[in-house]
Amino acid sequence: MSLDPSFKDILASLDGRGDAMARDVLAWSAINSGTQNLPGLERVAGEVLPQFEAAGFEARTLPPSEVTEIDADGREAEIERGPVHVLTARPEAKRRVLMTGHLDTVFPKTADFQRAEDRGDGTLHGPGVADMKGGIRVMLEAASTFLKTPYADEVGIDVVLNSDEETGSHASASVLHERALAADIGLVYEPALPDGTLAGARAGSGHYTFTVRGLAAHAGREFEKGRNAILGAARLMGAIDRLNGQRDGVTLNLGVIGGGQATNVVPDLCLVRMNVRGRRTEDLTWVDAQIRRTVDEGNAAEGFGAGIRVELHGGVHRPVKEMRGGTAMLFDAVRQAGSSLGIGIDWAPTGGCCDGNNLAAAGLPNVDTLGVVGGKIHSDQEYTVKDSFVPRAKLSLLLLMLLGSGQVPWPARLDAEAA
Ligand SMILES: [Zn+2]
Repeated sequence: MSLDPSFKDILASLDGRGDAMARDVLAWSAINSGTQNLPGLERVAGEVLPQFEAAGFEARTLPPSEVTEIDADGREAEIERGPVHVLTARPEAKRRVLMTGHLDTVFPKTADFQRAEDRGDGTLHGPGVADMKGGIRVMLEAASTFLKTPYADEVGIDVVLNSDEETGSHASASVLHERALAADIGLVYEPALPDGTLAGARAGSGHYTFTVRGLAAHAGREFEKGRNAILGAARLMGAIDRLNGQRDGVTLNLGVIGGGQATNVVPDLCLVRMNVRGRRTEDLTWVDAQIRRTVDEGNAAEGFGAGIRVELHGGVHRPVKEMRGGTAMLFDAVRQAGSSLGIGIDWAPTGGCCDGNNLAAAGLPNVDTLGVVGGKIHSDQEYTVKDSFVPRAKLSLLLLMLLGSGQVPWPARLDAEAA
């Protein structure tokens, strides 16, 4: 499509902004903000939030929801998470855009990977440069520029910056859900793939912990009185693994196991942790029911061994995101914006999950890889392509101007289609 001349001037105003954006990304990435590092998360928020406030957003910081997990002793324990920041511009506007990003990274405070640097070859290297401090910087550039244009007069923006995306957004899911219900579209700033491809449909995901309990006994003196929780776990895992291959696209990964203290003690506790993925909503419903049935029936029939009991904790926390309805319309709008800018936009389904899953589950059409181009994320080789900063900021900015000016229709909410 040919671009409105006034759009061209506004887009051109971003030319030359790449260095300033890169400086911020390096500064933000040099602050460790692993999900568990609450002081680090606060420091990053202290750098990021004032820049949004300077762009006209009002910031609120909300406490995280209570999250529990089964600890190594088999007890349900509360885990500490950082807060959720909600930034709002034009709260009275009828049309609302929800932009989301996460301040946390997968790198703990003790990780060797802490330095952020410009490699001088067009890439930045550092923890979170792509996932997703770079993305947050792109979001800031697009949002702050858009709010100064006449096309934003009837469009409000809510930004949610959470602190626990990398561990599944358990503590921020309710805020994401609530803001998603109030919005027309969602824009999420996860990095695009190294070749620029965006993520389309996303698998859903569930986390489960099995607490297998037996009875301790001395292996020499009273072996027969013991009830071996590790053996119970082995029987349970056999039964769970038999669910693999029963339905297309459903996988159960028994990923972590821990139990026992000494070889001369019959172990009374074994913990098994598992991740489940599925490509369709009904598949996740099915597998969740099968997991519960396996545990209930095994307990009832002593199928895991005499005197062995299994407790189940967890469930599906990232619903499936499908490429349909309003989300497909929004992708088409992104593609139109991209072609006007000379950026080819393609998308591919992925087994990975992000907050885009949560927004879709709340009925919000969304595109969730609008951040920088980069790669090797979650590793100490993480990098981002500096030359992608300005084009990706322009992509979001143009998308917002096309919607705000009425040149592209607002997609229907996913729940509106169902109603
Ligand atoms: Zn991310």
